[in-house]
Amino acid sequence: MIDLKTLSRTQLIDWTTARGHSAYRGRQIFAWLYRPRITKFAQMTDISKKFRVELEKVARISTLPYTIKETSTDGTMKYGFKLTDGHIIESVLIPEEDRNTLCVSSQVGCAMGCKFCLTGTMGFTRNLDPAEIVGQIISVMEDLEDLGMGSVTNLVFMGMGEPLANFDNLITSLEILLDDLGLSYSSRRTTVSTCGLAPKIIELGERIGVNLAISLHGADDAIRSELMPVNKTYPLKEVIAACIKYPLQKRKRIMFEYILLKGVNDSDEDARKLAKLLRPIPCKINLLPCNEAPELPFQKPSGNRVHAFQKILRDLDYTVFIRTSRGDDISAACGQLANKHT
Ligand code: SF4
Repeated sequence: MIDLKTLSRTQLIDWTTARGHSAYRGRQIFAWLYRPRITKFAQMTDISKKFRVELEKVARISTLPYTIKETSTDGTMKYGFKLTDGHIIESVLIPEEDRNTLCVSSQVGCAMGCKFCLTGTMGFTRNLDPAEIVGQIISVMEDLEDLGMGSVTNLVFMGMGEPLANFDNLITSLEILLDDLGLSYSSRRTTVSTCGLAPKIIELGERIGVNLAISLHGADDAIRSELMPVNKTYPLKEVIAACIKYPLQKRKRIMFEYILLKGVNDSDEDARKLAKLLRPIPCKINLLPCNEAPELPFQKPSGNRVHAFQKILRDLDYTVFIRTSRGDDISAACGQLANKHT
C-alpha cells in the first residue's frame, strides 16, 4: 500500500494518471494532504466517492505524531518520533525572537562517523523516507500552533544523518516542502547541511536552490581526515570546488560550520589556514565551541581562545559568528542527537 505522503506533486500526479485518473485529481489529492493537512480519504470532499473507495484500497496517508518532547531551560525543544519499525528519530526546535528554526533529521543514525558527533557513534540504520522527513515538520508545526507559538519558519537539515547520503528522499521532501500546494516554505529559509559529499553538493545545486551549509571543522586535510572520515573520499579541494560551483541565491552566502576542539583545530595557524581555504567562496563562518560529552574525547576551548580565533578571521574580512550552544541540558545541541532518552 503506497503512502501518498512519500510522493511529490509530480510523482502523485504520475501515480494518479497511471491509475487512469486525470492529472487534476492528483493535484487535488496533493493539496488536501498539505493545505488542510487531512488524514483520511473521506475528508477529500471534492473527490468522487468511487475514487475515494479505490484510494482506501490501494493507498494510505501516514502521520508522524511525536512521542517524546523535552524542553530545555533555554526554550529549545527536542521532539522524539517513533517510526513504524520502532526506531526513534529526533528533531530540535530553536525558538528565537523573530523565527522558529527546526533542525530536521534525514536518517536513523549516520554512516559518516565524524569523531565529535554522538549521532556518528550510533552507526547507520536506515534512510528516512520523504513522509518521515516532512512528518517531523508537520508534527512540530501543529504543536507550535497548539501552543500559540506561531509556526516553524526556518528549516535546517542538520539533525541526525547526512542528508546528501539520502539524496532522492531529500529532494522529494524538499519538493513537498517548497511546493506552494505543499507546505510552501521559502527556499531562502531552508538550509541543507552536509559533511561534504562533493558530487552531491553539485547535484543539489542543479536540482533545487536551497541554502547550503558545510560542516568543515578542519582547515587542512590531515586534521579534517582525522575528525571526519568522509574527507578521505572527498578531500577539501573537492569540497571547495563543489562550493564554488554551487548556485547561490541573491545576497546569500554558504555557511561553514567549524566546531572548535581544544588543542585539535583551534590554533591561530588553523584560523589563518581556514581564511586562506575559504577565500574563493562568498561565505559566513559559524564557530561552535564543542559540546563536551563523556562518550567523546574532546574538550571545549577557553572563551579567550574562541575569541582570538574569531578575531583572526574577522581581521581578514570574514563574517564570523560564535554560536552559543542551545539545549545541551536535554542533549539537543549540535552533534548530541543520539536518542539518549531511549
Ligand atoms: S556530524 Fe553529521 S555527518 Fe557527521 S556523523 Fe554527525 S550526523 Fe553524521
